[in-house]
Amino acid sequence: MIKKLIQKVFGGAKSRSGAARSVKVGAQSHELRIYRQAEHGIDRRDISEAALRICEGLQQAGYEAFVVGGAVRDLLLGRHPKDFDIATSATPEQVRQIFRRSRIIGRRFRIVHVMFGPETIEVTTFRGAGDASGALASEAADTEPETNTSAQTNELAPDDIESEQRSRRRPRDGRRNLPLGPVSQADEHGRLLRDNVFGSQEEDAIRRDFTMNALFYDPSRQEIWDYVSGVPDIQKKRVVMIGDPIERYREDPVRMLRAARLAGKLGFAIDAATMKPIAELSPLLENVPSARLFDEMLKLLLSGHSLLCIEKLHALGLHQQLLPVIDSLLNNEESRPFVTLALQRTDQRIADDKGVSPAFLFAALFWFPMQKRQQALEAGSMRTLQAMHEAMDDALEMQRKTLAIPRRFDVMIKELWLAQPRFLQRSQAKAHRTLSHPRFRACYDFFELRAAAGDASTEVAEWWEKFQFADEDVRETMLLPDDDPKKKRRRKRKKTGDGPDTIKQQDDIELPSLPTETA
Ligand code: ATP
Ligand code: MG
Repeated sequence: MIKKLIQKVFGGAKSRSGAARSVKVGAQSHELRIYRQAEHGIDRRDISEAALRICEGLQQAGYEAFVVGGAVRDLLLGRHPKDFDIATSATPEQVRQIFRRSRIIGRRFRIVHVMFGPETIEVTTFRGAGDASGALASEAADTEPETNTSAQTNELAPDDIESEQRSRRRPRDGRRNLPLGPVSQADEHGRLLRDNVFGSQEEDAIRRDFTMNALFYDPSRQEIWDYVSGVPDIQKKRVVMIGDPIERYREDPVRMLRAARLAGKLGFAIDAATMKPIAELSPLLENVPSARLFDEMLKLLLSGHSLLCIEKLHALGLHQQLLPVIDSLLNNEESRPFVTLALQRTDQRIADDKGVSPAFLFAALFWFPMQKRQQALEAGSMRTLQAMHEAMDDALEMQRKTLAIPRRFDVMIKELWLAQPRFLQRSQAKAHRTLSHPRFRACYDFFELRAAAGDASTEVAEWWEKFQFADEDVRETMLLPDDDPKKKRRRKRKKTGDGPDTIKQQDDIELPSLPTETA
């Protein structure tokens, strides 16, 4: 199906070839190839209204403006883009002047958020190639946590320079893209700034990561401008790094993760030269700020192709720096079906446009390591509940060394785990209490997932499926006798005030040890 579509989209490109010309950037020469609508087949109606209007507004004001990056790639593949980013020759201030509902974000990497109806579009000034060290999104993530996510999508945003210096207006000059030349060496305080942070369109193209991500689409001319042979690489379904892969990974090691994610998500092969250095350079990920790694991991897990992406990550050995636990999860007979199903269901929910909870996913990824730890602690004669609490902390702490899942997810992850033994208790007193758990549905879904993967009893899961929707009188008939009515309730612990009530509540129920559950 995709093949057909690609044939349809690209079929005539050779015979009706668009304009091509050679462009020199630094020592390298790039041939610009322009694809017309009949060649690329993109339908303007598939582009968001906001992106179209913003490009129009910028062009009318005399600037160049293009839809760029992942959106153009996805449109060529007949996919629905997640978002539409715009690259322009206008500086952030100039963009800001044109659109009243806009704001400049980021201190070092200034980009503009333009609000249009319900949409917010990121508009980035063409970035120059003069900055060889690559003023990276990882730095942006460091300095600007609040614009963390945007910082990633605007890898190519310009560095921070004074507005007057930036306000050099460059009129739209048809197909000519003259480099801006050095913008500034120092700001008003004498702080040295990098030369050439704004650049020409072709410089902007070669600063991007992969050829498939460096395409520019001009909605008014309905043309794709390709400086890096991105169109044929998409046609060949290949992830190809722009420039020297080793250098580009050193500049920003996250590009290795992006290669894995995009290959998994798009079903592309990673080009041999792009793949080769990964094995050696993957330890560089250790130097990437953990918040950025976490963001990238989340993108991967929520890509709609999490299973394929995780497998790619594993095959490339990149999981070692992120989720070392994947090794044991995928290589273990017991845990593999559960983790695989959790990822498949996540992908399915995304395909169905349903919400996905990252906490649920993390709870699934660390469920087996947590249980293993609990069993070890219990074997050392620790009581079940205490062992579970300690194991939960240990499991979450263990991953924090690499991935750094933010602590705000801990509460929900623990809730999901702590609720699991409760599903085995189906007596009058306990079943109703479980049902009234504020996050019963998520906890039940987790139990059902375990049952579907052979990690819990399907009979018990079915019982709960029926019980939760049954009338009161039907419920009465379903309840089982109290497991141990004569057992004395333990004295309630004094509230300490730390941790959420939902977790402390657990302290007064008797839990069977895990995972020796039978219906
Ligand atoms: P997705 O569809 O998952 O959003 P994407 O390619 O659009 O994929 P974004 O993170 O949205 O990914 O980035 C937007 C664009 O910015 C990319 O297409 C690429 O051109 C550029 N880019 C992003 N991250 C980097 C990076 N680390 N190095 C170089 N260029 C990057
Ligand atoms: Mg994107």
